[in-house]
Amino acid sequence: MLIVQKYGGTSVGSVERIKAVAQHIAKTASDRSVVVVVSAMGKTTDGLVKLANEISSNPSRREMDMLLSTGEQVTIALMSIALQELGVPAISLTGAQVGIVTEAEHSRARILQIKTQRIEEHLQLGEVVVVAGFQGISQTRHQEITTLGRGGSDTSAVALAAALQAERCEIYTDVPGILTTDPRIVPEAQLMSEITCDEMLELASLGAKVLHPRAVEIARNYGMPLVVLSSWSDAPGTRVVSAIPKRRALQDLELTKPVDAVEYDTNQAAISMLHVPDRPGVAAKLFSGIAVQNIDVDLIIQSIHEGNTNDIAFTVGKDALKQAAAVADAILPALGKNSDPSLGEPEVKTEERPIAKVSLVGAGMIGRPEVAAKMFETLAAAGVNIVMISTSEVKVSCVVDAEDCEKAVNSLCEAFDVDVADTSSSCGSCESEEIIPPVRAVALDIKQARLAVRKISDRPGMAAKIFGLLARENISVDMIIQSQRCYNVDGVLTRDIAFTVAEPDGETAYQILANAALEFGWGEVVLESGIAKVSVVGCGMIAHPGVAAQMFEALAASQINILMIATSEIKISCVVEEEDGVKALQAIHKAFGLSGNEVVKVPA
Ligand code: ASP
Ligand code: MG
Repeated sequence: MLIVQKYGGTSVGSVERIKAVAQHIAKTASDRSVVVVVSAMGKTTDGLVKLANEISSNPSRREMDMLLSTGEQVTIALMSIALQELGVPAISLTGAQVGIVTEAEHSRARILQIKTQRIEEHLQLGEVVVVAGFQGISQTRHQEITTLGRGGSDTSAVALAAALQAERCEIYTDVPGILTTDPRIVPEAQLMSEITCDEMLELASLGAKVLHPRAVEIARNYGMPLVVLSSWSDAPGTRVVSAIPKRRALQDLELTKPVDAVEYDTNQAAISMLHVPDRPGVAAKLFSGIAVQNIDVDLIIQSIHEGNTNDIAFTVGKDALKQAAAVADAILPALGKNSDPSLGEPEVKTEERPIAKVSLVGAGMIGRPEVAAKMFETLAAAGVNIVMISTSEVKVSCVVDAEDCEKAVNSLCEAFDVDVADTSSSCGSCESEEIIPPVRAVALDIKQARLAVRKISDRPGMAAKIFGLLARENISVDMIIQSQRCYNVDGVLTRDIAFTVAEPDGETAYQILANAALEFGWGEVVLESGIAKVSVVGCGMIAHPGVAAQMFEALAASQINILMIATSEIKISCVVEEEDGVKALQAIHKAFGLSGNEVVKVPA
């Protein structure tokens, strides 16, 4: 029986801690084989980066890998010495000695393959093998030391576990596991005993510090049981579970493609409520009415407001279209008339033409702005017009005309060199020991800015243009929303596209788009930096009507206005004013029954 254990920087931050961890490893090693992966001690890596930056503002990536890989090398040697001191036979190995073969991409290499022979020999001899995380070696003629990117030793650990077919991979850190939300904002946050890989990926912005998304992706692809737990207690931590995957070769261990698959659904119909007043409670009223009818809502999109009105668009199963439209019609009178008549009165529109939802999925799109841009470019080149867009961390969904669906799917499969996904989401068939709750965790991101481009002509290629320009500047776009509303500007149909970016990128993105707007004759570009994004995530919300309604009701009850909404199957995100962010997070966390009394201590 083999276990891979990974200890992060804080867990090995001093000689005392290294000795304590060695004790812990010795206990495990008494009755099984152990491979240990370690990070650099404490903030060593940051310190090394700083040294280089004192010499150059733009040091060569090759030399940076040479430099940063030394951090882990210190820890492996000290850890082996500590184990030997306890009488435990141990040997330290660098990434190159192990045979962790990566792409020849300095500073962000992906693991191609791990040669397990040498490790296996040492394990046979009864030795604990201590491996340097975060580093590998390229297969090129001049074998070069590479690193996997910051936070990469989680990835090393899970990849080793997969390659060695370990029983499980344990990630030791300075928090007791994964929590339902940030306990510094919500003291009632509780430790989760379990979370699925898919949920973990959607929580990337919340959970990345605890567990790197690339590590989660490998665990999911190989069905490797993963546990996140504290180095300082014997508490069981959080299991990160996945479905039992199809058997996969150990070649090309990390997907070198940014996306996993293309998905589509032709059984959807779209409804929109246009010109609804911009005030708390409107989305809550609409979706609670729909939940009462037990209708399952899929995509929900609320775009930016114009004057003081919003558009809310959503999709439901075709069968439920009439019923859902009736609910929307029924609440119209309660909305009243708009104060500014030039903005139009609230109305309900059902899309007459059949639609299809086409999505691109994959954890590799995190931090790669070019993926969404390429999706829109591909659709444009195929002549497919995008009716709606909604994105989440690991998914971009576009609503298109049903007659374009096949063309869209084929061109995307070709452009990204992937296949159409099994429609059964892995969430449904998890190796879970628990009933999956509709909402597992909630997250808040206050460091976002919102941008909107108004009145872009409604024809293929416009989204491609915008997100292509931003990708070229390496600006990652978070939540992209394109809604239903069309304006007729001098006989040309136009739409709005809105999205969020990290706050520091807001100004640059604004400049780029403002210039483009002049050049291409788009309408106004609007930047608002005082916003926050709150999200709920849970595999259990699939086929569980009413989750969105519950979220919107919780916000309405706290008098919080929703500025934007975007969803994926397992995530609902709302943009609110920045000053409402904390209150929103607290209200939602409570509304979904995630709060508890146990005080979870986390380091500041
Ligand atoms: N030492 C590296 C870093 O600080 C890798 C890791 O700790 O995961 O990013
Ligand atoms: Mg880490």
